[in-house]
Amino acid sequence: MCHASFQGEIFPALSREQERGRKAEALVDEAEASCFFHLQNRAVQACGTCGRFVCALCALELPSGVVCPDCFSHDGAVAQVAPVLEKSRRIWSSVAAWLLGLSFLLFWPLTIATAPVACGLAVYGMRQPGSLTGRGWWRNVAVLIVGLIFIAAWVWGIATSTVGAWLE
Ligand SMILES: [Zn+2]
Ligand SMILES: [Zn+2]
Repeated sequence: MCHASFQGEIFPALSREQERGRKAEALVDEAEASCFFHLQNRAVQACGTCGRFVCALCALELPSGVVCPDCFSHDGAVAQVAPVLEKSRRIWSSVAAWLLGLSFLLFWPLTIATAPVACGLAVYGMRQPGSLTGRGWWRNVAVLIVGLIFIAAWVWGIATSTVGAWLE
């Protein structure tokens, strides 16, 4: 009705034929290179990190290039080879809880500033993808509630002292 044009795209994987995993070819000729991990398999690629020859079974094709299983499982190499593989995430509820807790214990008047920040972090944390280890979403809610209690206490404290001063 508004004459706006739009474009629709059909998900291409729906019509694509299902791909089968590749089979490694057996080594037939002595002159050919074999896989570092499977001596009887023919090497088809070289690892982009360590340079070992790998068979079709072992060659892991990542967006950043081919790696062998050893380099894939090695911590440092994964960070370099595959930045797309996410290994950690910041737990915002923990950051918010520490901020609020420490400021309260060290110097409680600081909470007038840190409570709203902690609430903000908790709300931000709710919008982020969850923890990789499955620590719950409820932690953000818990921090948010504690932060709101602090804010309510501050509002109440300031309001009563203002009314008290006004009455005198
Ligand atoms: Zn490698
Ligand atoms: Zn192999």
